[in-house]
Amino acid sequence: MSSLKPGSTIGILGGGQLGRMLAQSAVQLGYRAVCYAPPGDNIAADVCVDHFENGWGDKAALAAFAAKCDVITWEFENVPLSVLDALPAERVVPGKRALEIAQDRLNEKLFVEELGATCAPHMRVDNEDDLKRAADRVGTPGILKTARDGYDGKGQWRIASAHEAGGIRFPGRTCIYEGLVEFETEFSVILVRSKDGAVKYWDSTSNRHEGGMLVRSALPAGKLIEAQVEEARDIAGQTADALGYVGVLTLEFFATKQGPIFNEMAPRVHNSGHWTIEGAATSQFENHIRAVAGLPLGGTETRFAQIEMRNIVGEDALAAHQILAEEGEPHLHLYGKKEAREGRKMGHVTRVSNSAD
Ligand code: AMP
Repeated sequence: MSSLKPGSTIGILGGGQLGRMLAQSAVQLGYRAVCYAPPGDNIAADVCVDHFENGWGDKAALAAFAAKCDVITWEFENVPLSVLDALPAERVVPGKRALEIAQDRLNEKLFVEELGATCAPHMRVDNEDDLKRAADRVGTPGILKTARDGYDGKGQWRIASAHEAGGIRFPGRTCIYEGLVEFETEFSVILVRSKDGAVKYWDSTSNRHEGGMLVRSALPAGKLIEAQVEEARDIAGQTADALGYVGVLTLEFFATKQGPIFNEMAPRVHNSGHWTIEGAATSQFENHIRAVAGLPLGGTETRFAQIEMRNIVGEDALAAHQILAEEGEPHLHLYGKKEAREGRKMGHVTRVSNSAD
């Protein structure tokens, strides 16, 4: 299978930190990176030879972007499908189908349920009456989530009781109501699939979320996750195969006493895989670039006995350089965002060690 020659250009849809780290890996492998995103704090552009700050509906700009790119990928799953329609399909990897499925929480649950995964009980909700019915049938407590466009806990409302469900102001777009899962811990399966269908998995960290946003990933993940990873990997691998997926794919799970429960998928590199930069033989970013470029995949083995990744959020970033004075060689990554707003992911730090304690 032919691979992308050094000096070729990889286009990235989206301009955030995932795009920035993908571009860093592309550059390391001798490629040029170009990103495309609507106007904003597009920090991926710092690492790209060129960038487009245009709306998703700007057909002329998309054509100009495509003309510069040998292959096009994304860092953000909410790229409108119309954007992919405006780009040469044979050069877009992982391909439109993955976005179609993953952009909608209802679709993705249906998709993985058909492959044998267990999800939280859930119902589609289009109005207040549906919500009352769903709270009744699925039960409370539960979570109402917009089916599309939510991230980091945004577009989600916890509902404690049927009474509360009756009083909620409905967001006016299709939602999903899910029963609240009593989980012990959370984990994700991150895999990379090559053009010839080979799949490699990274170890699954235990993930802690606060307010719907990931704050920490750590290895070892603990016995419960270790016991459930195989089943979760099987679902993730089947998902990747069914989509004919190429690149890095993430599936998130709740580890419960009854087994793994699928929560959602991200057809991209993932925050819970940032530890792989220093902690694995090949990072998720490098392997995504290798996969979309048709290069041999790198090993995904974990290189340390203990690994912890923590996000640096909001104003904590202003003092983040102090972390560098700590013992144990912490690996600091700052994303170069201009404004340290509350709840905004500004960077992360990974600590690795092989010590016995
Ligand atoms: P999501 O945007 O679906 O990934 O949700 C973000 C986080 O909210 C998850 O990682 C969980 O910590 C929590 N959460 C979401 N859905 C549920 C659920 N059905 N039951 C319990 N916790 C949930």
